[in-house]
Amino acid sequence: MTETFRAMMIVDHDGKPKAEFRDLTQADLPDHDVLVEVAYSTVNFKDGLAISGKGRIARRLPMVAGIDLAGTVVESRSPDWAAGDKVIVNGWGLSETEWGGYSRFQRLKPQWLTRLPADFTMEQAMAVGTAGYTAALCVLALEDWGTIRPGEGEVLVTGAAGGVGSTAVALLSAGGYRVTAATGRPETHDYLAGLGASGFVDRAALAEKGGALQKERWAGAVDSVGSTTLANVLAQTAYGGAVAACGLAGGMDLPATVMPHILRSVALLGVDSVMAPQTRRDRAWDVLARRLDKAHLASIARTEPLSALPQLAQDIVAGRIRGRVVIDIS
Ligand code: NDP
Repeated sequence: MTETFRAMMIVDHDGKPKAEFRDLTQADLPDHDVLVEVAYSTVNFKDGLAISGKGRIARRLPMVAGIDLAGTVVESRSPDWAAGDKVIVNGWGLSETEWGGYSRFQRLKPQWLTRLPADFTMEQAMAVGTAGYTAALCVLALEDWGTIRPGEGEVLVTGAAGGVGSTAVALLSAGGYRVTAATGRPETHDYLAGLGASGFVDRAALAEKGGALQKERWAGAVDSVGSTTLANVLAQTAYGGAVAACGLAGGMDLPATVMPHILRSVALLGVDSVMAPQTRRDRAWDVLARRLDKAHLASIARTEPLSALPQLAQDIVAGRIRGRVVIDIS
């Protein structure tokens, strides 16, 4: 109980949020029902914003950062969980309103926990992380919409070399879709081809403001960029197509018109991972278990220590991270 462990915290520094390592004891943790010993976390774009200070993610301070965690239940006041259970948490306000995963121990509400999905180790589940699970939610959104079929037309993935994008490319390709990757990093083409991309678009070509209705190129798309890129993707989506939008790596605005929607029946499907209900999470992890090749997962991920977080945060917000980074908390 008095043993100290290191945590990455966002603290109040002269009225501004600042990231720093602090030593905690279990007595410092929130009074939630399940105590988890965290083995791994990961670095998502949102974690980068929180730690680098480029975005105000923590809504109360001090806050333990880290929106994802994988670990083992140590003790539980809930009948749903017992010591020894292997669990993951994605989202649910961790790092925003609730203490998160960059800490050796964390206390959590029972309803936030998902049993470690079969077929995944804790490290692999964090290689997937919120980014990969969000990619799976996007693929589910497109498939549930029901107008896009494997083999019929191309599906575009924007921000393709990032965490969401890399996993979306892999999942769509494994599902039989022809995938085009939009990336600003030509040096990642081989990597993306290895995940199943068969065509490439320079992201700069999507960043310039274009017409309200452009040549129909995509049966569907997964967009993690937003802004002008999303507006162009919508304007290039074929009649009856759908775009799953989950990100804002290029900006939170959407300078678009209604024309693709009212003249081509194009659907814009919003995807949120943080508060997604448990049934949707289970379906997303099922898609990941069935379609994600473990060799691919290994090729998109690397593992770093907790001490690397400040630099990794700078790198992810600057778009310098390829694929996924797992954080070893032990
Ligand atoms: P990454 O940083 O790993 O990937 C983002 C990718 O977007 C980059 O690799 C880059 O791809 C591209 N990109 C970056 N900056 C720009 C820019 N200015 N213009 C165009 N493209 C750009 O982040 P994640 O994959 O973890 O997250 C992607 C987005 O999805 C983020 O905005 C994140 O907040 C959001 N997200 C949303 C979730 C939700 O619940 N809705 C959950 C998880 C993430 P490339 O190098 O290939 O060009």
